Amino acid sequence: MTSTLEEIYEEFEDLDRQDQSLFLLELGDELADLPDSARTDENLVHGCQSQVWLTVSCDGEGPDSYLEIIADSDSSIVRGLIVILQSAYRGMSARDILNFDVQAVFQRLHLQQHISPQRRNGLRGMVERILLLAARVAGQGAEDSKVETVAVKSTPQLHQTAVPFDAGLIRKQFPVLNHPLEDGSLPVYLDSGASAQKPQAVIDKQREVEERYFSNAHRGTYQLGVRIDEELEGARASAATFIGSATPDQVIFTPGTTAGLNYIAAGWGRRHVQAGDQILTTISEHHANFVPWQQLARERQAKLELIPLTEDGRIDIAGFQKLLEQKPRVVAVSGMSNMLGTINPVREIVRLAHDAGACVVVDGAQSVPHMPVDVVSDDVDFLVFSGHKVYGPTGVGVLYGRADRLEEMDPIIFGGHMIDQVEASGSTWAKAPAKFEAGTAPIVQAIGLGEAIRWTMDVGLAAIHAHERVLVRQVLEGLSDVPGLTVYGPGLEYRGGIVSFSVDGVHPEDLAALLDERSIFTRHGHHCTMPLHTYLKLSGTTRVSFAAYNTEADVTAFLSALRRAVSVLRH
Ligand code: PLP
Repeated sequence: MTSTLEEIYEEFEDLDRQDQSLFLLELGDELADLPDSARTDENLVHGCQSQVWLTVSCDGEGPDSYLEIIADSDSSIVRGLIVILQSAYRGMSARDILNFDVQAVFQRLHLQQHISPQRRNGLRGMVERILLLAARVAGQGAEDSKVETVAVKSTPQLHQTAVPFDAGLIRKQFPVLNHPLEDGSLPVYLDSGASAQKPQAVIDKQREVEERYFSNAHRGTYQLGVRIDEELEGARASAATFIGSATPDQVIFTPGTTAGLNYIAAGWGRRHVQAGDQILTTISEHHANFVPWQQLARERQAKLELIPLTEDGRIDIAGFQKLLEQKPRVVAVSGMSNMLGTINPVREIVRLAHDAGACVVVDGAQSVPHMPVDVVSDDVDFLVFSGHKVYGPTGVGVLYGRADRLEEMDPIIFGGHMIDQVEASGSTWAKAPAKFEAGTAPIVQAIGLGEAIRWTMDVGLAAIHAHERVLVRQVLEGLSDVPGLTVYGPGLEYRGGIVSFSVDGVHPEDLAALLDERSIFTRHGHHCTMPLHTYLKLSGTTRVSFAAYNTEADVTAFLSALRRAVSVLRH
């Protein structure tokens, strides 16, 4: 049995900061070991610099069930904080926990003044998790309990409840979607493929940085400098977890997908692609994953060749295998096409390409925000994505590189922070990620991205993907009987949350304008895939693209406005 709250109060009373840390260490020793089965990713508490797993066991369901907090950390001081939380909430029902003022306990212990800002964040994360779990057991929605939804997988011996995916509740967290337009209507936002909206948590996080602890990163060792470094590196760690990177050092912050692909084409490509070498890509790539390779091929006198597509817009694996016989140096493909919506079989592409000795670059701008990605299991050499498509800010993105590939890659931007030694006669470079992050980082945006990633992981990418498939099915069914309408790309089985189409005799720009009149926001044009549009003999298409906050009502509104617009435009 660990100390009671009264005993802790008594011991803590006259301790100064240093002695409090020692006492927390002692308290940590009282903590019982956590079963391995509870050390899961789902039980990890976000916002802590150390690793913290937290769950509850309970004797039933409903507000009167009693909860016991079960947790552990790899930090001894955090273990001490867990003991305080256990003592504070001991013997309480779910209802008691939700009504309990735990902040008063922290105040009486002067904890907030004595622990570091990062630990305060961690403590807040643990309390939020406890409130969330208590709300679930009590049978309240996450909204009522003022905490975000997280997916908690059940572990065999612990009784846990899962929150179902609810796009309506998710949507409430997005201010832009709840802010009336000039005519009083709310936007039906169907252009998340271009940029997703941001949840309040991300907006708040950026504001928190600006208002409370902004300073330059990796510079000052004063308190603000320490805090900003912890936050920035915390964001990097979240991004690493998000894509399954073995270490945060393989995650480089860039201005976005386009910049990341240019870094790779120039920094890796110029060193490794020689005259006569072959670079493989597809006709369906976004210009960001096409033009840099075209430029590299021109510069190195290499050949850019196109992997054939099947009629429904998937990679033709037999055709790909044939091209691999020529031993290309690079295979550059997207995880998901931003026009066709095709999800490419990245793991199979990598396996085949590696057998042929090629380096595989994956443009994850559309795949990373919409489906679980694991760079280690997929064994990709490089993967890039943008913050603004994953509920985060603009101006920041991620370039992941396998450790050996990052060693082989040259920086293409030089200056402060990326160096090891600078002398009049020459300079040497720091290790990744610093080597590729010259100058001041997009600090606020990167921290905002970290928050967006934590938000996305809490909602769950598998759930987002499944939800978007429901919406895509509804769109495909709804479009199937519109006369003269052609949908591009594969069937539901191979498609993510994007549908592009054309309507005979209707210009995409006119269609977009009429949809806009009904506050339905779609994208029209070539979607930065000119080669694909030329291949399909199209000047432009209309695209709808989804995110976690879209609902079936959005699709219904879109389909009805589309029918009206088509009949008006055909007259
Ligand atoms: N790749 C794909 C597949 C995209 O959809 C996009 C943006 O739409 C990009 C690359 C470029 O992303 P960014 O403009 O954020 O650099």
